[in-house]
Amino acid sequence: MIVTDSHMLRTVLSAAAGAVASWGVLRLWARRARTDGSERAPVTRVEAHLASAALSRLTPAKSAALRRDVQQVFESREAAIDLEVLDRSLRDIRDLTSADEAIFWRWVEARQTLVPSAWSTEGESRPAFFDARAWAPLVKWSAEESTVQFAGDVDGAPMLAAAPVNGAVSLYGVLTVSAREGLRLDRDSARAWLPRFAAQVASLIQLFDLRREYGRHMRQSQALLDAVQRLHGHRTAEKLAQALCDTARDVTSAPIAGLVRWNAAERHGMVQAISQSADIEPGFHVTADSLVGRACVEQLPIVLEDAEAETAEHCPYGGLPRVVGSVAVIPVLSGDQTIGALIVEGLGAGDISQHEARNIGLLAAVARGPLEIGWEIEEVSRRARTDSLTGLANRRHFDEQLKRVVAETDRFGGTCSLILVDLDHFKDVNDRHGHEAGDTVLKHVAQVLGDAVRTVDLCARYGGEEIAVLLPQTSQQGAVELAERLRITLETRPATHGGERIPLTASFGVATYPDPVPYGDWLLLASDKALYEAKASGRNCVKVIQASHVTPELYKSRR
Ligand code: GH3
Ligand code: MG
Ligand code: MG
Repeated sequence: MIVTDSHMLRTVLSAAAGAVASWGVLRLWARRARTDGSERAPVTRVEAHLASAALSRLTPAKSAALRRDVQQVFESREAAIDLEVLDRSLRDIRDLTSADEAIFWRWVEARQTLVPSAWSTEGESRPAFFDARAWAPLVKWSAEESTVQFAGDVDGAPMLAAAPVNGAVSLYGVLTVSAREGLRLDRDSARAWLPRFAAQVASLIQLFDLRREYGRHMRQSQALLDAVQRLHGHRTAEKLAQALCDTARDVTSAPIAGLVRWNAAERHGMVQAISQSADIEPGFHVTADSLVGRACVEQLPIVLEDAEAETAEHCPYGGLPRVVGSVAVIPVLSGDQTIGALIVEGLGAGDISQHEARNIGLLAAVARGPLEIGWEIEEVSRRARTDSLTGLANRRHFDEQLKRVVAETDRFGGTCSLILVDLDHFKDVNDRHGHEAGDTVLKHVAQVLGDAVRTVDLCARYGGEEIAVLLPQTSQQGAVELAERLRITLETRPATHGGERIPLTASFGVATYPDPVPYGDWLLLASDKALYEAKASGRNCVKVIQASHVTPELYKSRR
């Protein structure tokens, strides 16, 4: 309907007073606006309607709104409102036809039956005037044959009329009107009018379905927006991974969620973050034959609503059995490559279903970007810290860590130690076997030393064939014992290159802070001095810096 301005009856709700202002007030306002210098046109009905819709825009949903139980609460609230609207419309149909009752029977596909879903009778928990024994078969008949059906006769008027309510693609159900004293309509009028009422009911139901679908999408996109916001602003990939797992639990109500980073080229992965109750630590190695690995390799989600049999053999991440009720593994793809996987686990069978898998799929899609960036930054910073030949920390990272460890020793007390390792006659290895063999020996040494120390210790390639081992909270005696162990291990485990065994030994210098080395920046010089003594006394041995050598001369005599 098009209504021109001059015909329009306008009411404007004043937000301040809640009073109804007249068209005149609006005109006055418009005139004032013009005298203010701005040429604003009066507000139209359409504008006013849109403005009120904007005011009532939904508040941002939390990501938990994607959860099945939360969705169900929303949808049943909506359904209650819909039913009220449908009841009201049935009351109109009842009154127009002078019926006792108008009922909409919804077709339940799963049970192949009709169920009364809305009726005109107020305050009743079921239809009050429907003669089920006499009329039910006719209602079903109307649905099956898609025709108007009648029952009973009071002076030429039927007691019951039933008409199919058809949706665009399938049957919604049947509309019935009934009156024990006979309907006001004769059969011909009923045949003409009932399909029209049925069509109105059908459009209402279609509208409800549309709105439900729309509401679902709306909540979903708001929840995803919320999830995206939660994924932003994490300074490290580790924190991002943790936030992603928390969000995955939120959108599914699963008790356990995990994130795996997948190396597509080498077909294995590593757990980045996982809920504590899973008994798996970040850093867990994920193989290609595990459930998670299979989803990553095949680039297809795996949803096991009942995972007990599968996980009785192996944990979803691989390795020993860890029985899980239900599980979904969703690969995170970048282009045609798998870069990771999100995993949610339910305690019982059926806790994780296609619904949860779909939410995790959406989350994986929004997490892909931040994850890629986070992992890329991590990779760049790892490369900046690492020596490319040996994979050990480089000198720059070592210098930073040395400062940190010394500062921590100052703060918390105790001692820290440093071992400097230099391969013996390494020039000869290069001369005899070639530079490439020399590189292999260096890699071998890095591996042996790296494997032998604790995770809190740091092995760094300090120079060409010099390796520094930084030992937080370690006494001189502990450092000497470790150095001796490393010396024996190197001596007894020769490197091999091109099938040839290359024996090697190394010399070790040990220094400890704050006694006998009183300054952090003397630690390296002191261990170098001790190393020098190890070389001087025949190599393949461990020497400790002597207190008498810790003098300002040490600093001056830097090599
Ligand atoms: P020693 O320490 O026992 O006194 O004798 P050395 O022969 O090991 O002498 P020095 O430590 O002075 O020599 C270091 C040698 O290490 C020199 C260089 O050829 C070799 N080197 C250093 N960096 C690398 C590298 O990255 N690859 C290879 N293949 N050799 C290296
Ligand atoms: Mg050497
Ligand atoms: Mg050297």
